[in-house]
Amino acid sequence: MKTENVDVLVIGAGPSGSVSAAYLNKHGIHVKVVEKTKFPRFQVGESLIPRCMDNFNEAGLLECLMKQGYEKKHGARFIKDEAEGRFDFSKKYGEGWDWTWQVPRDHFDQTLINEVIHQGVDVDFETTVVNVEFNGSDSVTTIEDKNRNKSLINAKFIIDSSGFGRVIAKQLGLEAPAKIAEHGSIFTQVKDVNRPEGKEDTIITFEIIETEVWFWYIPFSNGNTSIGFVGPMEWINKYGKDNTVALEEMMKTSKHYYEQFKDLPYLFAPYKVENISKNVTKQFGDGFVLTGNSAEFLDPVFSSGVSFATETGLLAAKLVIKELNGEVVDWENDYVGYMKRGVDVFSTYVKEWYTGNLQKIIFHDKPNEDIKEKICAVLAGYVWDETNPFVKKHNRLVRNVAKLIEMEENIVD
Ligand SMILES: Cc1cc2nc3c(=O)[nH]c(=O)nc-3n(C[C@H](O)[C@H](O)[C@H](O)COP(=O)(O)OP(=O)(O)OC[C@H]3O[C@@H](n4cnc5c(N)ncnc54)[C@H](O)[C@@H]3O)c2cc1C
Repeated sequence: MKTENVDVLVIGAGPSGSVSAAYLNKHGIHVKVVEKTKFPRFQVGESLIPRCMDNFNEAGLLECLMKQGYEKKHGARFIKDEAEGRFDFSKKYGEGWDWTWQVPRDHFDQTLINEVIHQGVDVDFETTVVNVEFNGSDSVTTIEDKNRNKSLINAKFIIDSSGFGRVIAKQLGLEAPAKIAEHGSIFTQVKDVNRPEGKEDTIITFEIIETEVWFWYIPFSNGNTSIGFVGPMEWINKYGKDNTVALEEMMKTSKHYYEQFKDLPYLFAPYKVENISKNVTKQFGDGFVLTGNSAEFLDPVFSSGVSFATETGLLAAKLVIKELNGEVVDWENDYVGYMKRGVDVFSTYVKEWYTGNLQKIIFHDKPNEDIKEKICAVLAGYVWDETNPFVKKHNRLVRNVAKLIEMEENIVD
């Protein structure tokens, strides 16, 4: 059987795998990417947050993205009946990017991996990892191309960025119960011919239908708009098994967007994702590390997916370089510990969103600007900045501020 030897095998050519591969290649490591699908391929996760710009920049992938004319995202709007809350990333606490993009992921992911190839990395598309055997930290991976031809890859290290493919987690039995309550989602895109003219209607918007149910509106610069609902599985399932009928019915619950979309055909049959949140018991082992969604995914509500996927992809690549150079790497502290600090902060905000506490703060009619700036920095993805009290004391502050608002409302009543 054909056998290749590489330093690092990256499984999956999503944003996480692209960032890992680009960074490794930039530092002289012989890396190969194996990707199951043919690109461009559809992927959900079109709203980015500013922190990912730092990661693309460090991996040498920002410049190619800058040329694409994607819709700029300067903040986000939340609406519920007549109430509105807005975040402007230029008014956030601390350092960091003030903007990012909302992107059609088929084009975006293709742009990234094209650049990775352009920089010299070998990428096999339509090739699936079907088995991995570890011998200490060395590994032999069996891959299968679209003609079902099998071949082998010997690697000193594997970065598993296979997203919900979760190749190594499945093979080694590392899947763990989710941290966030079971939510599902239904989504598609439309050619948004009814989009009103002007900047206002290019702002990404989250409409709250019920405390635990929300609708996303993500307009792209190509004239299409991504629309979707997220809610508890029982809410999603009550609309039946036909995803198109279900989404059409769900749209009737949107006070703000029903008229805009009611007569527009969907560009593709809506996708349904059940039990979105994913977790693992172990994010690394001898000769491998899990990055992006193959390690963990919380919830789409604050668009943190690509940021975490690129944060883990970049950090994993840096640590793998150290290990290949013979240095001892403390994966538990330097990888799991670092990521856990950020994920814990985001988990609090996601959980407090669904309890309604964060919604109370966001929709408060007399917002405290100082608090808003600090929460804005979290929503921009700067969740490791412990000078921000809304990062450092995340598990108390959101709840306490919501309590104060509740008390204030009771006094006024
Ligand atoms: C409903 C929903 C809404 C979301 N909204 C957002 C959002 O607004 N913003 C955001 O940032 N994130 C969002 N996300 C999350 C986002 O989709 C992911 O976090 C992001 O795509 C993760 O990137 P990744 O590189 O880890 O994985 P992916 O982008 O999934 O890439 C993994 C790649 O691995 C390949 N692969 C899988 N198995 C194999 C195999 N055996 N062999 C070879 N290749 C393989 C796949 O084909 C795929 O191309 C959302 C997720 C859901 C479910």
